Amino acid sequence: MLVYIGLGSNLENPLQQIKTAIDDLQSLADIQVMSVSSLYQSAPMGPADQPDYINAVLSLKTTLSPHHLLDALQQIEQLHGRVRKRHWGERTLDLDILLYGTETVDDERLKVPHPGIAQRAFVLYPLAEIAPELEIPGLGRLQDLLPLCPQGDLQQVDKVHL
Ligand code: ATP
Ligand code: CA
Ligand code: CA
Repeated sequence: MLVYIGLGSNLENPLQQIKTAIDDLQSLADIQVMSVSSLYQSAPMGPADQPDYINAVLSLKTTLSPHHLLDALQQIEQLHGRVRKRHWGERTLDLDILLYGTETVDDERLKVPHPGIAQRAFVLYPLAEIAPELEIPGLGRLQDLLPLCPQGDLQQVDKVHL
């Protein structure tokens, strides 16, 4: 299955957190990272009294089910010392399942496509970099969503090499 993952960090060297998380994903037997966007910086969503975020998205191939993939992502978040403080608060690492092929999941623990996609510049613009032709189940073409979501202060800050 081809899956898109959103990565975010705003604590303890965010650039390094994201790069290490990509390596952590790549090291899993059931996961093959296919492509990674640039790294982007932007002001926080939610509480404003926290550092800027670094975000990226990547695509991977996996044989894991959506829920087992979420388990793996949450293990990596834990490895990075994630502590849950407040809603949309600061974190060392956040890994979200944005898309799982064209499948839809909607239960207590997992919602795919990720509900925030269309409203978040730090998701849409990196996605457009690696998958410009993407079609999002229930939302339509990525190219049609971009003009509805201003880039704001989002800026490209670094590149990643797989
Ligand atoms: P948001 O989901 O709005 O980006 P967040 O990433 O800060 O907010 P978290 O605290 O990281 O939210 O996650 C809360 C819960 O969201 C997780 O424990 C997980 O069960 C659930 N969740 C639902 N859908 C997804 C998804 N597509 N990817 C990752 N987690 C999800
Ligand atoms: Ca998130
Ligand atoms: Ca999350």
